[in-house]
Amino acid sequence: MDPTCDSKYASGQVGRARFYHRKFSSHGMTGSLLQRRFFKKYHVRVRFAPSPTGHLHLGGLRTALYNYLFARSNNGTFILRIEDTDQTRTIPGAMEKLQDDLLWAGIISEEDPIRGGPVGPYKQSSRLELYKEQVLKLLENGSAYYCFCTEKRLELLRKEAMKCGQVPKYDNRCRHFSKDEVKEMFRKNSTYCIRFKLSSTPESFNDIVYGEILHDIAKTEGDPIIIKSDGYPTYHFANVVDDHFMEISHVLRGVEWQVSTPKHIMLYKAFGWDPPIYGHLPLILNADGSKLSKRQGDIKIESFRKQGIFPLALLNYVIGAGGGFHGDKEYQNLYSYQELIKRFDVNKIKSSSGKLMPEKLLEFNKLEIANLARNEKNHEFLIEKIKKLVLEAFPERKNDGSLQLDDHHIITTLKWAQNRISTLNDLVKKDLTFLWVPPSVPNIEQVNCTDAIKLLNTELAEIDAINYQTCWMVSYLEDFAQKHRIPFPILMKILRSVLSGAKVGPPVAEMMEILGKDRTLLRLQRCVS
Ligand code: GLU
Repeated sequence: MDPTCDSKYASGQVGRARFYHRKFSSHGMTGSLLQRRFFKKYHVRVRFAPSPTGHLHLGGLRTALYNYLFARSNNGTFILRIEDTDQTRTIPGAMEKLQDDLLWAGIISEEDPIRGGPVGPYKQSSRLELYKEQVLKLLENGSAYYCFCTEKRLELLRKEAMKCGQVPKYDNRCRHFSKDEVKEMFRKNSTYCIRFKLSSTPESFNDIVYGEILHDIAKTEGDPIIIKSDGYPTYHFANVVDDHFMEISHVLRGVEWQVSTPKHIMLYKAFGWDPPIYGHLPLILNADGSKLSKRQGDIKIESFRKQGIFPLALLNYVIGAGGGFHGDKEYQNLYSYQELIKRFDVNKIKSSSGKLMPEKLLEFNKLEIANLARNEKNHEFLIEKIKKLVLEAFPERKNDGSLQLDDHHIITTLKWAQNRISTLNDLVKKDLTFLWVPPSVPNIEQVNCTDAIKLLNTELAEIDAINYQTCWMVSYLEDFAQKHRIPFPILMKILRSVLSGAKVGPPVAEMMEILGKDRTLLRLQRCVS
């Protein structure tokens, strides 16, 4: 075994693949976009390669995360490459949003369109020169050919196949054109695309998640287009060329791409390059076993962010559906980033589809809130977040100075509330409004309680702030009610109204604890003065 290679990788611990001795082949690298191949042999280089055609959703997040963890746990490199060659589907701003969501999730790339890197650019639309250059190699060695079929002819083929109950498939007509015929078509200025000749002898490949996969692609598909008539490459071609020139060692991607992998491997072969190691990630299903759909708004990362879900809670939620980790059964613990890296093992990824358990998401978020609140270093960040939420929830109070938003109050409130909330957004729900907004003054005269409240106010003013604790306060209020012959439930009802302006909410003694002496007295005084 090569002593210079990365020990984990070379010892075969990385993946079940039988390719672990594979080396990067040397091949001609010219052109402005190309850099010298300098990465250490066996260095793990993985990429997340989204198309900016919409929002990042749970499936994409899982792919990005597994690639990131695989890189981190093998001292490798995680790359973000934007696959935007389908200009008709590219949505302006989607790339930036994707990057922002990844950053939010803590999935940080070492090479990407913003940071750049040694094998950039990292956006396919900026690499067109490379694809043009590379496709010539395939044309020259006879693995690709010009196709002049018109859209009309292709449509006819499709219709005919449908009529006969067959799956539509290009009939590879232009594969057989002679050089002269091709010249003639060019002379006539005919529109063309470039297709790749699929091999009719299928070869299996070893998927590190699914094992040996054999798929006779030429049986179900005609020769695929690799360069479209607009000069842009198709996904398959650009993806293979980039994975090669970016020296990607492992491709971990959704199982929906598994059918394309034989095609990609054929392309590698046609170029004379070694393919990377492939591993496909199983489908993520809803709790009821149905497929997640991109159209389902709630699987967008943006929706989780808006709901107040913390990144680590979301990551732990999504990994519960597919395995890949040493340790407890799925969905048990909330792992930190370090633990995720330490526990990740590509060999543990399951090949069966995994179900999400929505109730776990809020449970994880609750745990994460408690974790964050425990560490003082996070307080500034939490205070900022909560202030923002409160100001957004009560815009009419923004400028009148009545919102209770001092830092100490925010942190004590959060610590008190962490067992009863699942997201920070819950802090501004109706039953907890009293935490931030003093209620309007209730009319206690109506219930003949002015004297009782006055008395209570006087007595409470004498009580040390330290005693404003739930247990102490409960027995004090019980004694007070008995002493003054006020039915306890009535006293509680009045106090609740005075302190929070609401009919329901946390127990009164707890409200007094969380409001503290000064705020409690202030709210009582407003009623009696
Ligand atoms: N651009 C593809 C996507 O949007 C990438 C597939 C792959 O990872 O090869 O998912």
